[in-house]
Amino acid sequence: MALIEVVLGDIADEVVDAIVTAANESLLGGGGVDWAVHSAAGPRLAQAGGAIAPCLPGDAKVTPAFDLDPPVKYVIHTVGPVWDGGAYGEADTLASCYRRCLQVADELGVRGIAFPAIATGVYGFPSALAARIAVATIKSAQTDVALIRLVAFDQTAYDLLVEATQRDDLPA
Ligand code: ADP
Repeated sequence: MALIEVVLGDIADEVVDAIVTAANESLLGGGGVDWAVHSAAGPRLAQAGGAIAPCLPGDAKVTPAFDLDPPVKYVIHTVGPVWDGGAYGEADTLASCYRRCLQVADELGVRGIAFPAIATGVYGFPSALAARIAVATIKSAQTDVALIRLVAFDQTAYDLLVEATQRDDLPA
């Protein structure tokens, strides 16, 4: 099973093979974490994203990492669910994001990957539930990825992720 690390910081500073961005379906770049990743990777990221768009909610697609410093080789773009109260499959879609990113990573032979807290910004997914789903999904995933870093952008998100990793009653 992969080693799971929870860290506080900017995902664009992560030193891993692949970083995940919480994109929108166009893959042309958005706000929040996607803005940070596109800023660091340069304009070719949007060009490459646009060429493979759309990416549907719950799915993941890969591009090169362009101007991001090695060892970062890949950006994995995933589209979270827009939170609409929770009765519209949002939890399943979010779990699918984490699973699909790990599948894509496995196809590429990625050993280390960094995830942001997908969907918990503009898309409005409640952070505590999102943290539990993120951890439960990656814990139950069959993957050859050795290191999974969950990158929190603020202390609250960090605390929720740490708490989720310490639970052992997580639903898959
Ligand atoms: P979404 O549209 O999927 O909700 P957002 O980018 O709005 O995506 O937010 C997702 C999460 O990413 C939020 O918890 C936000 O605080 C966090 N975030 C924003 N910028 C960064 C960054 N540079 N590195 C890591 N996480 C970030």
